Amino acid sequence: MARIQRLDPTTSSLIAAGEVIERPTSVLKELIDNALDAGSTRIDIELVNGGRRLIQVTDNGCGMHAEDATLALQRFTTSKIRSIDDLPALMTLGFRGEALPSIAAVAEVEVVTRPAEQPEGVLVRGHTSSAPQVHAIGCPVGTRVRVQRLFSHVPVRLRALKSVAREVQLMQELVAHYALAHPQVTLHMQHEGRRLLFAPATTDLRQRLAVIFSQDLAAQMLPVSWQSLDLSIQGAVSPPLINRATRQRQYYWVNSRPVRSPLVSAALERAYGALLPPGRHPIAALGITLSPTLLDVNIHPRKTEIKFLHERAIFAGVQEAVEMVVQHLAPASLPWEEATDTAAWQAITVPALHVGEAEAPYDLRSAVPAGAAVQPLTQIGNTFIVAAGAQGLIVLDQHAAHESLLYESLMTAEPTSVELAEGFVLHLSVSQYNYVQRLQASLAALGFQLEPFGKETVLVRTVPTILHTLLRLGNLVEAFQEAMQRSTTRSSPEEEREHLAAALACRTAIRAGDPLSTAQMASLVEAVTQQRLAYACPHGRPTHVTLSLAELERRFLRFTPSPTERGQGER
Ligand code: ADP
Ligand code: MG
Repeated sequence: MARIQRLDPTTSSLIAAGEVIERPTSVLKELIDNALDAGSTRIDIELVNGGRRLIQVTDNGCGMHAEDATLALQRFTTSKIRSIDDLPALMTLGFRGEALPSIAAVAEVEVVTRPAEQPEGVLVRGHTSSAPQVHAIGCPVGTRVRVQRLFSHVPVRLRALKSVAREVQLMQELVAHYALAHPQVTLHMQHEGRRLLFAPATTDLRQRLAVIFSQDLAAQMLPVSWQSLDLSIQGAVSPPLINRATRQRQYYWVNSRPVRSPLVSAALERAYGALLPPGRHPIAALGITLSPTLLDVNIHPRKTEIKFLHERAIFAGVQEAVEMVVQHLAPASLPWEEATDTAAWQAITVPALHVGEAEAPYDLRSAVPAGAAVQPLTQIGNTFIVAAGAQGLIVLDQHAAHESLLYESLMTAEPTSVELAEGFVLHLSVSQYNYVQRLQASLAALGFQLEPFGKETVLVRTVPTILHTLLRLGNLVEAFQEAMQRSTTRSSPEEEREHLAAALACRTAIRAGDPLSTAQMASLVEAVTQQRLAYACPHGRPTHVTLSLAELERRFLRFTPSPTERGQGER
């Protein structure tokens, strides 16, 4: 690494705010940044009392010469840039030369360091009051920074700290983020002798995912690899059926710098579209690489946020990269063959319905108000889902409810479709073939694109997005057969479309008798309650019944007492 120099006053004044040391995580972040900037391949983190007593980071990086080690503890001394003109080409995580002095201002800092070309190292102790003390010391190549008694002279900051467990958790989250962004570095972290993380160096992100998430989740994550001329997006995202209530499990890094990015989150979630139940978020670990000239890292005091100079390009890139894996799953992974086991119904596709408030043609009285938290309790006879909310009890017919959601979604003005990578060949009877040919327009309106493909055979090019994971070869033919039987020469195109949508919804919806996971029940209940489901399925059967609190009270003869009676009767 280059030698350390003091930035000139003009440059330092142009650098956004100072390093802000707010809590133990802020210290740890700066120390890890420095270790990585020093080219380390192994970083050991040791914590005592949630970082208040000790935060120690040991690395095997380039180390520092004695003079540099003393300079490092002073303000605006850095080896990483010489002037503001170097910022656009920045390849290091640090650049302000402020971290170590800022930490030394609120804690006792001790640096032991040795560069490879020196036979021995130095120990430098920083003190707020006096000049740093330097001693020669025998030590391995690399740097060990010990930060002790953080905030012991800053009671305001000390009081603002959370519990030891919470501070440790925050640091664990931070280290997990770095671990994903830097799989080539071995990371080891312990708190009071207890190991919190050990991530051996690897070139395979999946191995890192297994350490940070779990073996099981890592195996199910879908790899993302996308490249344009000046932008590369690599990493992994969860399949739509694995999702979370928060975005906490979305990790991004830009040129190896861990960042938070609402922009990237938005692009990611746009890519899932209707495959994701409303209010749920995918898990993601995505690294973006681009020329540093297209970035501004100097906008945030903690450097956890960055500004992309071409936000639209980044948004479009992330969306496309993720869409390629979640929307266009390779045909091999699609359940196109005849389904034999019902357990294959993995994803309950929950379409976004757009039933206008005013002209909703349904009986909305029975629907639980949108936004009320309704929890699924259990499944009865593998057929009905029982859910409870503040408003009362709701019982869903799982098939009728799912069927109805699919139908509504197919009948929205413009259903989206998914292009199949290789298409898919459908052998039909003569009458089915003629029917499909005659109804090209209605099928297209639903999102199907079919091409003649020889005698009584069609090639399916696109399918409606919401049916993508649900369609099987068999149920598609059955749906055509059912719709064909209901079609007459006098049916209007709109009626034809309805027949098709109803038949497709019925054939692809989960069935009575299918066991469901809690997550599947939850997504169905959420869709039904939040989207004000039609009271009846396309066949006219009820989708759900509600037993309101008032109804329960009536049945249990619990009448709301009048003010005069209150306190006298049996409770
Ligand atoms: P910055 O990282 O912004 O340059 P810091 O205050 O974090 O500022 O560090 C000051 C300088 O000290 C760095 O530029 C680097 O040269 C040196 N330094 C800090 N930590 C290490 C380390 N772990 N290994 C080698 N050099 C280090
Ligand atoms: Mg630094």
